[in-house]
Amino acid sequence: MDYKAKEVAIVGAGLAGMTAALNLARDGKDVLVLEKYDQVGGMPQVRPAVDVTPFDVGPVGKFIGVELGAPQIVPCEHWNFYAFGQKVEMKVKEVNLHCVERGPRKSSLDSQLYELCLQAGVKFEFNKPFASQHDYSQLPPDSIIATGLYPAAALEAFNIPYQKVFGYMGRGKTDNWPRTGVWMDDYALDYAYYGSSNDVVFCLYFAREPVKDSEFERFKEVQLEGEEGMECSSWIYYEGEVPTASYHNPRLFEGNKILAGTLAGGMDPFALFGVHGSLVTGKIAAIAHDDKAAAYALFKKYTRYFKRNLFMRRMFDATPVAIRKRIMGPQLQFSQDHAQQLMPLMNNFFKALPGYQELPK
Ligand SMILES: Cc1cc2nc3c(=O)[nH]c(=O)nc-3n(C[C@H](O)[C@H](O)[C@H](O)COP(=O)(O)OP(=O)(O)OC[C@H]3O[C@@H](n4cnc5c(N)ncnc54)[C@H](O)[C@@H]3O)c2cc1C
Repeated sequence: MDYKAKEVAIVGAGLAGMTAALNLARDGKDVLVLEKYDQVGGMPQVRPAVDVTPFDVGPVGKFIGVELGAPQIVPCEHWNFYAFGQKVEMKVKEVNLHCVERGPRKSSLDSQLYELCLQAGVKFEFNKPFASQHDYSQLPPDSIIATGLYPAAALEAFNIPYQKVFGYMGRGKTDNWPRTGVWMDDYALDYAYYGSSNDVVFCLYFAREPVKDSEFERFKEVQLEGEEGMECSSWIYYEGEVPTASYHNPRLFEGNKILAGTLAGGMDPFALFGVHGSLVTGKIAAIAHDDKAAAYALFKKYTRYFKRNLFMRRMFDATPVAIRKRIMGPQLQFSQDHAQQLMPLMNNFFKALPGYQELPK
């Protein structure tokens, strides 16, 4: 591949990569996106899936130049939060929670971005995995790297510290009611959740240490199926690498390359919501291609709550489970009773999602 013939090369046809590609192509650039799989949408074995996230749909759409909405992104109508011995019904509307379809189906956000990219003249090359530092070193300066959560090759090539995670991912068919359930307890130490919309359910159960099969079975039978009545027809076990949230994240540049999405630290370090930040940092990466100073100023502004949430995460991790239950259980009950007053606090917490509640309306 003669990269020099292309004005911009982008690695990763995910949310951030395609947002960057679309904006650069609309700006008249010749754009090539290189993707490891043979289609858009991420890991085929767990697609279609549903991501759940607080989401300023209108402002993000305006910022990235895409009309966002149903069926790709729909308001989440119900959220049960099981934590520290409590079951709390959260106020979903006040925190702007949305279900986002991911994968290759026409109703996914990935497919919507892909179609728009094709219309704008973006070229794609599939089955192009960047597997080593050498692969990345072949790219021209100002290439955009947006390979998402798992690939160790990119994390190593761009000096991003990473750690292992372990767990299960499940998916299946269900009804059309957009909803979610989230668990943080002794049987789901990091956390577990399911998201459901567009007839699809996706469940993730993960931890930063090897998970016990017996705990997972307990979660699946008692919590997911028992409490929520949700069933996945297929499960896969996985182990992978993810960036370690650190006070050195987020970063827009590494060497002569531009980072976007998860690699740029576009994820909230506490709850790991990544959809919002990937779209926003994808657009910022496109700006960075022509104007580094302007892009960096935006990037700093929209990621300034990252360290605050990382500090909270570190405090949370340092608290033994028994104490979490004793202190946070009653607090959650209090939150349930005073949900209306507490929602502004929660929205403030979600400001670690780049641009959340800050983009022009
Ligand atoms: C299982 C799972 C569940 C998640 N759930 C949620 C959720 O509920 N809510 C939320 O907000 N966020 C969630 N996230 C976070 C998620 O990472 C972000 O929402 C978002 O997808 C990140 O966007 P991105 O552009 O950085 O990466 P992605 O959208 O993941 O795109 C990365 C692209 O790069 C490609 N790629 C990877 N490696 C290479 C390589 N070596 N060479 C070439 N191409 C490569 C991938 O195939 C993919 O197409 C979840 C992540 C995972 C993995």
